Amino acid sequence: MWNFYGGVHPNGYKDLSATKSIIPAKIPPFLVLPLLQHIGEPTEPIVNIGDKVLKGQIIAHCHAYNCRKLMTVPLHASSSGTVIAIEERAVPHPSGLTAPCIIIETDGKDTWTKLVPLDDYTSLSASKVRDYIARAGVVGLGGAGFPAHIKLRPSGIDTLIINGSECEPYITCDDCLMQEHSHDIIAGIKVIRHALGGTERCIIAIEDNKPDAYESILKAADEQIEVVKVPTIYPTGGERQLICVLTGHKIKRGQLPSKFGIVVHNVETARAAYRAVQLGQPLVSRVITVTGGAVENPQNLEVSFGTPMRFLIDQCGRKPEIERLIVGGAMMGFAQPDDDMPVVKTTNCLIASLGDRIKDKAPQMPCIRCGECANVCPLNLLPQQLYWYSKAKDFKKIQDYKLFECIECGCCSYVCPSHIPLVSYYRYAKTEIRRGENEQKKADLAKQRHEFRSFRLQREKIERQAKHKKAAADKSKQDKIKAALARVKEKSLKLDKF
Ligand code: SF4
Ligand code: SF4
Repeated sequence: MWNFYGGVHPNGYKDLSATKSIIPAKIPPFLVLPLLQHIGEPTEPIVNIGDKVLKGQIIAHCHAYNCRKLMTVPLHASSSGTVIAIEERAVPHPSGLTAPCIIIETDGKDTWTKLVPLDDYTSLSASKVRDYIARAGVVGLGGAGFPAHIKLRPSGIDTLIINGSECEPYITCDDCLMQEHSHDIIAGIKVIRHALGGTERCIIAIEDNKPDAYESILKAADEQIEVVKVPTIYPTGGERQLICVLTGHKIKRGQLPSKFGIVVHNVETARAAYRAVQLGQPLVSRVITVTGGAVENPQNLEVSFGTPMRFLIDQCGRKPEIERLIVGGAMMGFAQPDDDMPVVKTTNCLIASLGDRIKDKAPQMPCIRCGECANVCPLNLLPQQLYWYSKAKDFKKIQDYKLFECIECGCCSYVCPSHIPLVSYYRYAKTEIRRGENEQKKADLAKQRHEFRSFRLQREKIERQAKHKKAAADKSKQDKIKAALARVKEKSLKLDKF
């Protein structure tokens, strides 16, 4: 074991839901399925309003050439019913964005489409199995939602790390999944190893505050898999931090773990790979933790994508007042203005908060330059400088301080004695920089178009002038020929008379 720099020990509040078995959430009357639920290329609908759909049927995919090679996966209906609208709806995002969504009115039957499992995937090539995983819509379920087949593509991978550390406060879905579905996870790991072309080592990392999950996985695993306890310190579950803890490699910004022969997948992604390949089931649901002081009965629910969050909060016993609704964990999650948003592939936790928080609520005070934030930053950044430049809107300078290396883990905000919501400042700066870049791209494109149009008009003008000149030249040539012919004719007439 190695250590990574920084990190914090927040109160976990995992006991609220850690002992609750996973139960299926009810199917809501309407499902709202955003066309883009992962990092990468967006999908386009292939259904129309009024179409009947079955659970697991593809309803949108990327029309671009060979989707399986692109950063995209198809979108499947998460229950059976009728498409009633394709329109913009609010989606879970820190900026409160709207995005195009397919709305399905469910029929309550939850009927699967015909499922085609791969009977003996081990007899197929690694690329065929990857294609199958891509067609099943599997993305990384640990956070960012990176299409899983892309992470299975690099060659020369000798170490597969399965991330079961779940270091964020409040979240217990992976813990419960490892306790209750350890055999599915192990079967999924075998699928992933095959899709990677075989790996020398496979390590499952579980934080040492999850003894039951550790025992359960240890029982299900064979001697080909190392089950490892890692120390409980936030953010051990971050990809780079976990790689550092297990192998000592320090992955820099811009480097991929595959450079070191390593790939990391989450435990729930492993289960999704198992369900895709061995059961033929596309990714249409996942386990999420619904917790917080504003629900009577915090639970871990298997939720169909597109289910509105309010439906889940009701199912867990909504209290009359919700102070804040946080999507994701208490450290890296973001607040949403209402509970109408749908659950998407990257949603792993909902915290309906009422008075409970991992840190005392206190008004924001000026920065006292104590340097505590820099002491805990796992990326070894200077959070205080990032804060100053973000506040001053100096978006050029802030990039010199590696803003985009920040993983928004929230350690700096957690320790700040002045209660400055530092991560909110960084998110603001990142959004503004990306907006500026997009605007610049649009302006460059418009300039290019204008220049090309001017060039085309000029070229057409020159071509027209040349055409006119040629026509005039041809005409004068023909006139001369006509005149010569007339002269010859006149001469021959004169000769005839003579
Ligand atoms: S922890 Fe807060 S008060 Fe201290 S230097 Fe960082 S931003 Fe300033
Ligand atoms: S949020 Fe960013 S700056 Fe703050 S501790 Fe985490 S990585 Fe460092």
